[in-house]
Amino acid sequence: MIRTDAKTTDRAQKEIDLANAYAARNYDPLPVVLTRGEGVWVWDVDGKKFLDMLGCYSAVSQGHRHPKIIAALKEQADRLTVTSRAFHNDRLGPFLKRLCELAGMEKALPMNTGAEAVETAIKAARKWGTLKKGVPDGKAEILVCENNFHGRTTTIVGFSSEPQYRDGFGPFAPGFVTIDFGDAAQLADKIGENTVALLVEPIQGEGGVIMPPEGYLREARRICSERGILLVLDEVQTGLGRTGKLFDYLHEGIQPDLLILGKALGGGVYPVSAVLGSDEVMGVFQPGDHGSTFGGNPLAAVVGLASLDVLVEEDMAANAARLGDIFMAELRKIPGPHIQEVRGRGLFVGVEVKEESGTARRFCEALLDEGIVTKETHKQVIRFAPPLVITEDEIHWALERIQRVFTP
Ligand SMILES: *Cc1c(COP(=O)(O)O)cnc(C)c1O
Repeated sequence: MIRTDAKTTDRAQKEIDLANAYAARNYDPLPVVLTRGEGVWVWDVDGKKFLDMLGCYSAVSQGHRHPKIIAALKEQADRLTVTSRAFHNDRLGPFLKRLCELAGMEKALPMNTGAEAVETAIKAARKWGTLKKGVPDGKAEILVCENNFHGRTTTIVGFSSEPQYRDGFGPFAPGFVTIDFGDAAQLADKIGENTVALLVEPIQGEGGVIMPPEGYLREARRICSERGILLVLDEVQTGLGRTGKLFDYLHEGIQPDLLILGKALGGGVYPVSAVLGSDEVMGVFQPGDHGSTFGGNPLAAVVGLASLDVLVEEDMAANAARLGDIFMAELRKIPGPHIQEVRGRGLFVGVEVKEESGTARRFCEALLDEGIVTKETHKQVIRFAPPLVITEDEIHWALERIQRVFTP
């Protein structure tokens, strides 16, 4: 049976108590206090070492403190950090050029967090609908999916189907219509005259690592094109190598109209996000329409560029594809009564725990005792999204421990 025999030391408890005394309780962290990280490893305040298999929800895909990203950050920190977009800086152009070329897009708009980039895409889609499709101002509708996760702003939680994300936070913005994830027929059915876009995650991350049926994105692409609405892909979590290709949509050989990136774009050190699209769609923004004090600052641009460079140079997507296959194949061999399903793509993996075995949280606590940090999502699912620099030996090291936790 799973054990949870780790004792929180006095040293760790002191830090936890201090944080609890002053931090609003919007999170429920595992009882571990981290103080150092390198590559796929993190250390707690007592010097105990853990394999990081959450990877900051995909924000540390390049590993903790990747030397080239940290070097770029330090060099830029000694030169120029934030300027605002009231002026040009000499770092933004090279970053956005590289980003657009990698994604096959013409224009990018830099922001900071994923939620801000989602908000930016919503504004772009609505304005495009108003200017280019003739949808009356204020009437634009965006289709979103049941079980989505796109961030935590009031507009975004307003179209969440998770009651806890919404409870007590209304009123919410209108203009969103929810359809089932992975159901192309329903998508075609729900497009109305004021519909401007489908906003969708290629794989639902927070929703429990939910895979759509094979071919869904291709079908969605075809329907959106035929009906003249934008396909807006939120690849904040799936993008940048996580699922075995640089972008998850490449598995289906399509191109979205708007692409939302974040998390790993900041290389594990700094919040960097962006929305990318064609000249036609991104061209709806005029000076003054939209902005961000920090978005596209020189430090962010340098970190973003270095983050992309190391992803490509070290072919992290290929590593994710190869090791993800091994990891999932071995997870599926684990005997015993606890595992309902193993699913995912590349190093984006969900292990669903049977309800009669208790919540995924219990297993995450047991994994913590074994030297692995990760976190449950949606009660029954353990998410594994380790840094993409993980090695095959480290995957086997993890598997041995995961096996132990799941074996009676
Ligand atoms: C994490 C996430 C976001 C929000 O990103 P933040 O940086 O936390 O605002 C948006 N979309 C998806 C798919 C995500 O996983």
